[in-house]
Amino acid sequence: MMLEVRDLAIDIARPDAEPLRLVNDVSFRLAAGRTLGIVGESGSGKSMLLKALIGLLPGTIRATGSILFDGTDLLALGEAEMCRVRGRRIGMIFQEPMTALNPAQRIGDQIAEGIRWHRRVSAAEARAEALQWLERVRIPDARRRIDTYPHEMSGGQRQRVGIAIALAMRPDLLIADEPTTALDVTVQAEILDIFDELVSDLGVGLILVSHDLGVIGRIADETLVLYAGTRMEEGPTEAVLRHPRHPYTRGLLAAMPRRGGGVGAGGDLPTIPGTVPSLAALPPGCRFANRCGCVTEACRAAEPAWRTAADGRGLRCILGPEAAA
Ligand code: SF4
Repeated sequence: MMLEVRDLAIDIARPDAEPLRLVNDVSFRLAAGRTLGIVGESGSGKSMLLKALIGLLPGTIRATGSILFDGTDLLALGEAEMCRVRGRRIGMIFQEPMTALNPAQRIGDQIAEGIRWHRRVSAAEARAEALQWLERVRIPDARRRIDTYPHEMSGGQRQRVGIAIALAMRPDLLIADEPTTALDVTVQAEILDIFDELVSDLGVGLILVSHDLGVIGRIADETLVLYAGTRMEEGPTEAVLRHPRHPYTRGLLAAMPRRGGGVGAGGDLPTIPGTVPSLAALPPGCRFANRCGCVTEACRAAEPAWRTAADGRGLRCILGPEAAA
């Protein structure tokens, strides 16, 4: 197994109080050539989880548990060792590609620079390889565009360059954080096609984080649903989206815009009532209790344990898979 996260918890130190737990009891696995979709609203713990995976948690925040990457626990590595993993073995793609691009440097030079940082190749070889990557991510007229600056490109093209920069390091694992959120639907579909093709052709593992179940459903083999810092449901994407077991997953699906459906009598999309609770003031018992239409008194007695059903799907709800189905 290329990546195995076990019992991950993330705590932030507070000056006059006990540390606050930001992420609790998160575990998942990812094999090479597979895509894991992680979905959740703001405040679900997605960003903290990603920072822990790439070793970029601030000093006041501490992760415990283990993040086994090809058998090495990333949480046990020092910054110098983690620097060798980040970029070269684990690539990152951000929501806003300008975050990753240098506005003052030509895109071809930016890709080539990454190649030469990690491998001993000549400048000419690195440039030739940069051109191949630009063609691979379908930049039109790549031979000419290799010398353009980021501001001369559209948002979709900049995102393709971001993907090319990450892949040019030949990572084993790629982490994409809301990579299509800022793009229109057509460009979004093209970017997802590129991910699909690259994951199967290059055999990289992909973690795609999104608040959009449509994006996750389009590309992910497995789906992990996070809520208020913990996992609520996990399983093969098709099963989770067609037969969701957790009331929260069902709420997310009901809130998805659909052609010819999903709109209530008043013309509004159904929404999940309320908001994600503050981690400093979680409700007693189930974290979703204040928003759940199936809540009973038993839900507020204690936080439901994570359970794995006979078919391998995971769930955190006292209803259990049979009742939820
Ligand atoms: S444990 Fe209760 S409140 Fe929580 S999701 Fe399940 S039914 Fe809803």
